[in-house]
Amino acid sequence: MKLLEETIKKDGLVLNENVLKVDSFLNHQIDPKLMLEIGKEFAERFANEGITKIITIESSGIAPAVMAGYHLNVPVVFARKRKSLTLTGDLLTASVHSFTKNETNEISIAKKFINENDRVLVIDDFLANGQAALGLVEIVKLGGAEVNGIGIVIEKSFQPGAQILKEQGLRVESLARISSLGNGEVTFINEKVEALI
Ligand code: 5GP
Repeated sequence: MKLLEETIKKDGLVLNENVLKVDSFLNHQIDPKLMLEIGKEFAERFANEGITKIITIESSGIAPAVMAGYHLNVPVVFARKRKSLTLTGDLLTASVHSFTKNETNEISIAKKFINENDRVLVIDDFLANGQAALGLVEIVKLGGAEVNGIGIVIEKSFQPGAQILKEQGLRVESLARISSLGNGEVTFINEKVEALI
């Protein structure tokens, strides 16, 4: 997605060879117009999957997921990372090791928000080792529903997450695919291919 790649180039900050900071449009301050375009792109890519629900994880997955839900006209549920007084009743829970915080959290969704007939699109901001997405897939399966796609805003393709998910037969659509964060620079997969032609 060109607009997203341009924004990453312009405003993304390479913290090191493995971590990209995008707090000016996605992870802290949010660019609503870009999110709307991201949601539209997800909706187009998954238009034929009969999606009935979108599942994401707090907090940075929520903005792109809501915009995709708006375009697909389906509800959006976000997994919570901490137990809250208002999160009561039957819960579906999975363990997720956080890439950025290097800690393991239980993530939960109320059982009543997933039903057996749901066809679920899982959305997240980043894909690194795939742990967050796998935790969400596990929760959907615990709820007896089907995962019909994974939508990722920024995939770091040099890390194993995308491959792990695809090996499980999951359809992964990433709007920006980064092949390297070396030399303090973002390189996208298509750029690498173009440079070889
Ligand atoms: P995974 O579970 O695939 O290893 O990592 C994905 C999760 O870690 C995302 O939900 C995201 O919050 C966080 N994450 C992974 N890599 C990055 C990164 O390079 N930058 C930022 N800002 N977050 C990341």
